[in-house]
Amino acid sequence: MDKVFLRQGRDKPTRGGHPWIFSGAVERVQGHPGAGDAVEVFSAKGDVLGIGAFSPVSQIRVRMLPCNGDADTLVRRAVERRKRFFEGAEGTDAFRLVHAEADGLPGVVADWYAGWISVQFSTAWAEKNKVAIAEALMSATGAKGVYNRSDVAARKREGLDAEGAAVEGSLCGEDAPEKVVIREGEMHLYVDIRHGHKTGYYLDQRDARRRVAAYCVGRRVLNCFSYTGGFGVAAMLAGAAHVTNVDSSAPALAEAKANACLNGVEMEYREADVFAHLRRLRDANERFDVIILDPPKFAESKGQLMRALRGYKDINLLAMKLLAPGGTLATFSCSGAVTSDIFDTVLREAAQDARRDMRIVERTRQGADHPVALAFPESEYLKGAILQ
Ligand code: SAH
Repeated sequence: MDKVFLRQGRDKPTRGGHPWIFSGAVERVQGHPGAGDAVEVFSAKGDVLGIGAFSPVSQIRVRMLPCNGDADTLVRRAVERRKRFFEGAEGTDAFRLVHAEADGLPGVVADWYAGWISVQFSTAWAEKNKVAIAEALMSATGAKGVYNRSDVAARKREGLDAEGAAVEGSLCGEDAPEKVVIREGEMHLYVDIRHGHKTGYYLDQRDARRRVAAYCVGRRVLNCFSYTGGFGVAAMLAGAAHVTNVDSSAPALAEAKANACLNGVEMEYREADVFAHLRRLRDANERFDVIILDPPKFAESKGQLMRALRGYKDINLLAMKLLAPGGTLATFSCSGAVTSDIFDTVLREAAQDARRDMRIVERTRQGADHPVALAFPESEYLKGAILQ
């Protein structure tokens, strides 16, 4: 196995269990490891630190691999940790099986949708081992099939293709059907594994959808960035008086309509840019009892942080102004670069400018199937607040 030696004093994070070694921490590479190859990692003094996966083009040059990178064992352990979910303890048949580095599998995301698995491989190591990982997932879960959704831009940083037949399609088992129906509590939803966002659905907001629904009983709800209507349907099933879904994607709204039908509820749909739509509603003096803001990631990296914060402040300020007295704002950020403290600051400034006296009554986070590894705080990315 080829060897990677770290610079003097740069071994501390690795010793502490952090999986990433940046190119700047590497003193020298002995041998010629290819993309995704396993390498032995040493401190400057020559202590063995473990086995990692080499990535020649990424800024993250090595990602540490627990269990010497034995994909089968790593997958089995991740699946074992979701036992409660398989047993139905969370009231759902759709959940994350592998949460990348937080489960010891760098760049591997695997989601379970009622017997089907949808995967994303975003690192050179994940790509190189994709067949072994897919087979391990099949045998650990008894899934009907594994579908590859590695059409993610992040792969370019690893020198991998991000589109085309090689990154999308059936990997093993049966071909995934056009639509899978999943259950989340009382709610049933169509998930389009082949074309939906991410691996098909936003599983990470499951707990938030349940919590927010509790505030919607008898209320008029504005569900911004609705995607396929998850928050909206949950609100209607909880007894909301009315839900308007806003999204810029027509296919997402069509799916939201189908999901309303599936659950026997009726909602309203607006194909619009949320930034513009909130301004129109403000100018028309509209009011809502509950407003949900679940935008996409505004900051892909720390470099985009300032622009992202302006975006978060803008929509939150507008939403606060649109709230009826005593109303509820459920607001989220899935940008890893936006910490919980930073997000609170944005909300405080928005409330100040909107001249609203707001208090946080609850906080939400990514569900238990998206664990945060203590040694890898980057695995915590989703935060939410319910404000009154
Ligand atoms: N709340 C959803 C997930 C939202 S994902 C759920 O629980 O499943 C973010 C959504 O925002 C996507 O559907 C995307 O189409 C939409 N979107 C992104 N930018 C937008 C914009 N400027 N205006 C309206 N919708 C937007």
